[in-house]
Amino acid sequence: MPRGLWTTTVGSFPKPPHLERARSQHARGELSAEKLHELEREATAEVIRSQEELGLDILVDGELYRGDMTTFFAERTQGFEISNPVRSYGNRYYRKPVAVGAIRRTAPWTVDWWKFAQSRTKKPVKGMLTGPYTMMDWSFNEHYPSREAMAMDLAEAIREEAIALAEAGATYIQVDEPAISVRPEELGLAIRALGRAVEGVRATTMTHICYGDFDVIYPALLDLPVDVIDLEMANSRYDLLDRFREHRFTKGIGYGVLDVHSHRIETKEEVKQGILRGLDLLKPEQMYIDPDCGLKTRTVEEAREKLKVMVEAVREIREERGITV
Ligand SMILES: [Zn+2]
Repeated sequence: MPRGLWTTTVGSFPKPPHLERARSQHARGELSAEKLHELEREATAEVIRSQEELGLDILVDGELYRGDMTTFFAERTQGFEISNPVRSYGNRYYRKPVAVGAIRRTAPWTVDWWKFAQSRTKKPVKGMLTGPYTMMDWSFNEHYPSREAMAMDLAEAIREEAIALAEAGATYIQVDEPAISVRPEELGLAIRALGRAVEGVRATTMTHICYGDFDVIYPALLDLPVDVIDLEMANSRYDLLDRFREHRFTKGIGYGVLDVHSHRIETKEEVKQGILRGLDLLKPEQMYIDPDCGLKTRTVEEAREKLKVMVEAVREIREERGITV
């Protein structure tokens, strides 16, 4: 019997409102770091429990303890400072990392959180890191002579963390590179940096790429030296399948079936159709079924409802096609 169609998520889960409040209280000095940490642990345990209840196959810690996906790592890394708030995406402000010296990982970033999450479940929990290219692209650089030099130092630091996660027992490690698809001219650099970040890491390695200019970056994207590339399929009505028809997709694929930008809950039938269209071109053992992107922009309820539909759709297809986990 074929195996495959493992269900998972891209990484982030919605922060429950009480945790958002606690984070701002902490920022204003009204709540201790210890108390915030305790609330983050409780909420992380709840995210694990909820994923088990939904029946997902590969779990995540939900990243509830992270603010921004670059700042979280930069704050814990030698060589970075954090800027005053800068404006981005219209009216949103955020604090951006600034490289002011040689970038070095002096202590683990996420290993304790991974261990905590894994201690709450028998299912595998993915290690989740932000990739060297994206960390470089989304930071200011006041130290390095080139973008490449900065990305390669980041790759060394990320590789140390990925190896530490694998040594702690993580069997899946995802190194996200959402920035790749918007700068196709730097794909070669991104491939070199990500290659170093996962070199010698004994785990199934994955990367998430956001939707972008696939006319330019596909099939070159397949040179990314990871086992699984996670893509937003639903958001573009599965038009990437046309490209796979012209040039076969040769790796494992994280196959996004839920539009994370929409409040609307998908129907089971449309998710099934999307997966079945994929199965015309891909083998089940190549496919990891997940939402298009992180779920942090949805409410806790919306995320749960969407994932419930996804898991049910996969369960039915497994039964119909005789596919096992
Ligand atoms: Zn994305």
